[in-house]
Amino acid sequence: MAERPASAEGRKGSGSGASGQEWYRDGLRFECTMCGNCCTGPEGVVWFSREEGRAMAAELGVAESDFYRDFARTVDNRWSLRERELEDGRRDCILLDRASVPGKVVCGVYRARPTQCRTWPFWAENLASRRAWEAAKRRTPCPGMDQGALVPIERIRIQRDSTPE
Ligand code: SF4
Repeated sequence: MAERPASAEGRKGSGSGASGQEWYRDGLRFECTMCGNCCTGPEGVVWFSREEGRAMAAELGVAESDFYRDFARTVDNRWSLRERELEDGRRDCILLDRASVPGKVVCGVYRARPTQCRTWPFWAENLASRRAWEAAKRRTPCPGMDQGALVPIERIRIQRDSTPE
């Protein structure tokens, strides 16, 4: 998967300058184009809680034990979604669906997706500076960043502060 939250060290700060104001105080534009780039790429992790695991199992219509067997793995003693390796070496999130919607790449549990996925791209590490934001946009690449509707600072802060580390 292309993106993963950085270590706690990498997530320090909220992108506030000396004035104490975030550089994105006027909000940021974001609109997902459903390209799937944030759910594929090099090896990564998608953390989820037990509650989120229950919700994803219910969304898939499988028993919780089957969900953990087929879709989950542990990394550093935490639960993460599994990955599926593509022929070109990229790794898709196991729940990424490239077949159901022509021309789109969608999440197989969209309504029950974990917080880490809901809060992209408003992660603290991406918001640490304008440069970090631009780097994440380029690296992913995420064509939805800086496009579409303006997301106000209040909503960005909520998403930033709820992303698991
Ligand atoms: S990379 Fe950006 S535009 Fe593409 S699916 Fe992810 S959030 Fe949406």
